[in-house]
This record gives sequence, C-alpha cells and structure tokens, in this order.
Amino acid sequence: MTTTVLVFLLMTTIIAAPRPGLTEVKRDCPVCKQVFNALFCPEGDTRGGIDRDLFAHALGPEPVYYRIATCPKCGYSGYSTDFDPKTAIPPDVRDKILKKPRLTLPKGFGPENDPRDLDAADRYALAITCYQWRRQSKEALGWLNLRAAWVARDEGSVLPPEDRLVRVMAFIERWRPPLPAGGNPVDIEMQTATRVAEAIASGRFNRFQKPYVELALALILRRHGEHTQTVPMLDALVTHQPFPESLRTAIKRMRDSIDLERRYQAAALECFEAAVTSKQVSPANRAPACYLLGELNRRLGREEAAISWYDRATQDNTLPGNLKTWAQQQRAWCAAGR
Ligand SMILES: [Zn+2]
Repeated sequence: MTTTVLVFLLMTTIIAAPRPGLTEVKRDCPVCKQVFNALFCPEGDTRGGIDRDLFAHALGPEPVYYRIATCPKCGYSGYSTDFDPKTAIPPDVRDKILKKPRLTLPKGFGPENDPRDLDAADRYALAITCYQWRRQSKEALGWLNLRAAWVARDEGSVLPPEDRLVRVMAFIERWRPPLPAGGNPVDIEMQTATRVAEAIASGRFNRFQKPYVELALALILRRHGEHTQTVPMLDALVTHQPFPESLRTAIKRMRDSIDLERRYQAAALECFEAAVTSKQVSPANRAPACYLLGELNRRLGREEAAISWYDRATQDNTLPGNLKTWAQQQRAWCAAGR
C-alpha cells in the first residue's frame, strides 16, 4: 500500500462513480514531423475535491498529468492544440528547439519508449521552455506554470507506508466530519487537518506518537499545497532520528517538492500579474485571474498582496459566486494571520 492510497482512504465518504480512463492518441510533431502516441485523459473527474487555487483532484488518473504531450524525438511539448497541423513554428523557434540551445529529453527517453516513461514534470518543464521561445501570451504561460505547480504538489504528496504512520492515518479518521451533499472533499480534509492540529496542540499525544501524527498532518496539508504550516513541521521532522532512514529520505523529497511547487507558483504569479496589468486577459477571465493572484500570493506567504488581489476580485461583478465566497474566506484568513 502506498501512502497515496493512504490519503485516498481518508476520503471514505466519496461516492464511487465510473472512472475516466487513459487513451492513446496520435500526435504529429510540427517541428520534426515525428508521429507518436501520447496519452489523453478526459477532464471531469473532480471527485477528490478542488483546492482553492483550482487544482481539481481526481480519484482516477489525474487529467492535468496528460494535458501536455512531448515529441519523443525533438522534445517539442504542449497542449493538444499545439500539435494542430495548422500550428506554425517560426524558423528561429525551430532552430532553438533542434539546434541551439536545443531541447534535451531525459536520458534514455526516445521514440521507442512508451509515453508513460516520461514524467509529467519533465513534459511541463519542456512545454514551458517551448512557450517562452514561441513568445506565447503571459496568461498562457501563467496557466502552464500553475499546472506544473499542481503536478509538483501531487507528485510530492507521497510517503512510504511505514507501519506507525499507517496506524496514525487510520486513527485520525475519527476526526473526519461527514461530507455534506454537494460538498467539496478538500474542505472536509482541511477540517480534519484542523482537528488533528488542535489535538496535537492540546498535548493529546506522547513524544513517541506526536512526530507520526505531525507527519500525517503534514501529508494532508502538503497534498493541498497549504505550506505555511507544513514547511516548519517537515523541517523539524526531516532530522527526527527515531524515524527510519527511508522515511527521512521521503520527507526530504517531499520538502524539495514544495520548493519546486513554489518556484512554479512564483512564475505563474509573475505571468498572471503581467497579463492583468497589461490588460492581456480577456474581460471574462479578468476577475478569476485576480482571484488566482490572491491565492498565489497567499500560498507564497505574501498576505498583504493577497488581500489586495482578493479585494480586486470581489469588487468585480463578473467574479463567479463560488470564487467570491472563497475570496472572502481566504481574505479573512490572511487578515487574521497578519
Ligand atoms: Zn518533434
């Protein structure tokens, strides 16, 4: 049993529904003309709940992993629309991809490989480089970086199934509130996390139990990209000598994945801010972009800027109702934490 499965066990109230599967689709590379198979996963599986920066967790394959395809010959990467036969690649961009500086695929990956052999994180990194060289819009680059942050979050939310950790994960199930009809499973997980944090603060656990409960709490928070509490906990736990070495190594990997996620978030923030400021964002997307800027600033620990962007979002009448509610709640949390 992997710890990813452990986290899923926390979601016992989720109603089972048919899982969308992966299918293989043919792609034509507009740069080197290679024809290759890519994996495609339909959107719509949001049964794991939605994080407030709009990452929709699936219980089946995560669609965000499969939105980006990579040519196994030259490394050109992008969404399905970037492989449209009408996609024009200017000669200077083609030279950058094929000659200098040239895209580099991970060692050992080539046209003979299964597309599953290339990690989603590598595909996103290549796509971001292609979008920069192709001078795509700041808004498009913002989304690409935000999705790369989600992949880093999801890939980084894994710990080995160490016995005591497994027992703690089962124990804290008692604090899980029921999921109301139409409710967001992420809200339930965050409420569970709050109750676990309260139990730790109240001194309920002895010195042998406490580090495992803290680690379980850190795993839940990391899974939703809520790092303000997670980082200090992981920084303390990574050197906790009674933990087996395999666990300490996994904690270090999780901590590194937070740094990677934050780098993508910072890039997404810069791109969205430039797009909104220069009025590149279409009127329909402007208010959600302001909301996301609030959310990205909050996640990066910049509360003052977050409040200012949440205010800008809520003052815009075109902001969808659900985002308005979230913006008001997140603003209140930021204001309380100042
Ligand atoms: Zn190619």
